[in-house]
Amino acid sequence: MPRALITGITGQDGLYLSELLLDKGYEVYGLIRGQNNPKADLVARTVPGVEVLTGDLTDMSSLLRALRVAAPDEVYNLGAVSFVAYSWEQASLTTEVTAKGVLNLLEAVRLYSGDDAGKVRFYQASSSEMFGKVQQVPQNEGTLLWPRSPYGVAKVFGHYITINYRESYGMHASSGILFNHESPRRGPEFVTRKVSTAVASIELGRQDKIVMGNLDARRDWGFAGDYVDAMWRMLQQPEGGEFVVSTGETHSIRDLLTAAFAVVGIDDWERYVEQDKRFFRPAEVDLLVGDATRAREVLGWKPTVDFAGLVSMMVEADLQRLKRGER
Ligand code: GDP
Repeated sequence: MPRALITGITGQDGLYLSELLLDKGYEVYGLIRGQNNPKADLVARTVPGVEVLTGDLTDMSSLLRALRVAAPDEVYNLGAVSFVAYSWEQASLTTEVTAKGVLNLLEAVRLYSGDDAGKVRFYQASSSEMFGKVQQVPQNEGTLLWPRSPYGVAKVFGHYITINYRESYGMHASSGILFNHESPRRGPEFVTRKVSTAVASIELGRQDKIVMGNLDARRDWGFAGDYVDAMWRMLQQPEGGEFVVSTGETHSIRDLLTAAFAVVGIDDWERYVEQDKRFFRPAEVDLLVGDATRAREVLGWKPTVDFAGLVSMMVEADLQRLKRGER
């Protein structure tokens, strides 16, 4: 039975990837940070088959311990301080976890593997935020990186240190440059989930407006369930590599609002939306759209959920959740 260790198990991708690997017959270990982590319960409820270990990306000896217990064939590094807007407020912490944490984990894997550099296959969750002030449209694996937030800068370090460990030590290390990927499990601070929750609650008469930031930003949004499959496919290749994972379609925040309100039959959504400086960012990423040709050709990967399908999945799920009285 193959074995996997996932950091960031409590997040959206950690949960989807756990389900995918458990379905494939893996023994799955997940790393949880902190004492009494409030999200531990969510993991136990959603993916009871996962064995939980405690550890922290900033504490290398905890990572070595986790590797010894999990004895993994594959390590997926999904753990990070992952909210872009927050990364300006806590730039140093973001760097410690999102950048240096990758080095700690790679180093722990290297030490754990001893003379057998290929013993553990490594996946790094890189991000389209690395493209930032885009130098080319659409963006592919060769596009010059120009991050626009402390988060983006930290992800660039993680990306290159992963490539460097592959080249320096012969490790099977891959970096997936994933464009925004969403689902009903997306954190409420991200714009898609913020909108889907607000629309559901407006429809149920529990809220009368939504306060937003920049409506002109554009993103390439896909479904997280599809994207974790691309991660797994990368680690099944004979060698590590870099892959853009995206839908190739871009939509503005306005398009998102139009699609989300349409799910509940509201066309004139402007009357429910206000804007506030608080939700604007010091620097913006304007036009993210990915070219996933390499993932399609080498990994045989393609997205199965389109933009309209994704938005309606999220609004419907929030409607059901609110009707059940869950928070
Ligand atoms: P990101 O791509 O990882 O930063 O994902 P987000 O979902 O946090 O943000 C996507 C885009 O939505 C960014 O360009 C934001 O500026 C824009 N946006 C506009 N209004 C909001 C808002 O109220 N909340 C968030 N999170 N983003 C917003």
